[in-house]
Amino acid sequence: MSTPKIATWLHSLPRTPEAVRATVQRLADAGVDLLIPCVKQTDGLVDYPSVVANVRPEYQGWDALMIAAEEANRRGLAIHAWCCDFVEGTGSRLLAEHPECRAVQHGRATEGWSWACPRRPETQEYLLAIYRELIDRYPVQGVHLDYVRYADGFCYCDACRESYQRETGRDLLTRGFDTWQQPDAHDMDAWIAWRCAPVTAFVRAARAAAAAGGKALSAAVFPYLPGQLQDVGQDWEGWLAEGLLDDIMPMTYSMSTRIAAEWTRNHRAAVAAMKGQCRLWEGLVRHRSWSAERFLRHVQTVAAQGVDGICIFDEPNVTDADLAGLGALGTTA
Ligand SMILES: [Zn+2]
Repeated sequence: MSTPKIATWLHSLPRTPEAVRATVQRLADAGVDLLIPCVKQTDGLVDYPSVVANVRPEYQGWDALMIAAEEANRRGLAIHAWCCDFVEGTGSRLLAEHPECRAVQHGRATEGWSWACPRRPETQEYLLAIYRELIDRYPVQGVHLDYVRYADGFCYCDACRESYQRETGRDLLTRGFDTWQQPDAHDMDAWIAWRCAPVTAFVRAARAAAAAGGKALSAAVFPYLPGQLQDVGQDWEGWLAEGLLDDIMPMTYSMSTRIAAEWTRNHRAAVAAMKGQCRLWEGLVRHRSWSAERFLRHVQTVAAQGVDGICIFDEPNVTDADLAGLGALGTTA
């Protein structure tokens, strides 16, 4: 087994410059290869000084992402800026300015834990403007897609109904507002292809924006292929076939080492079929209740399936003992 690279997600950047630098230094000193800090959260706020989106108050007046990126560059730690894409929330500037973009679920606009309709051009343009800001302004090595999918049960907005009618000649709501359970039994494959299309189009546009700025594109995806095609409209094998991603991180968040390893085998086959154009990082959760030994056994078993890297969710749960053990992986395998 070759030594897997190590990455970690970081769901919130620390809230002082000193703490940001300390986090980067700890990971770099331990030989971690890639840090993925979240800068657009599921509430629609961003954690960097954006002119496109609303900025979380704690990150106004300073630039935590710039400090992290500069410190990471100095220490040889790669960094990808992570955005939660189609999920918006109470802080969303998109949904405040374009309420028509709010996804319709079970006949009602989504509220609170709300989503934007991926099919609306305004949604895609808004998110791409955020990515362009990150790509143009920051010395990061890449940008990272997450929530690049639907959730169950939408979208049934007017634009989606019109699109479905135009492309298939059928009403999206033929079976009533609870059609999400059996969306269109008439032709499930047509429904899946129609639903995956705007998400894939967004990945294509993000790929072009990243490439124009000389950045890599990575993505967190659902692990249980091919079921995610129907459940959330996420055709990541199609993205790989088009060469849209440099790095893919299936969120293999099972507490079962056996299940995580078997999912990994499936991911490995999917990525290998694309002739190695995309690096496979298995996304493993570091459960707080686990000992370092339990976690490292999980990592080792998954890595033995043949992966390019392990991506840990998430940094605050990673102990110093974990980091020491991860650093020794290649020597003990
Ligand atoms: Zn819609």
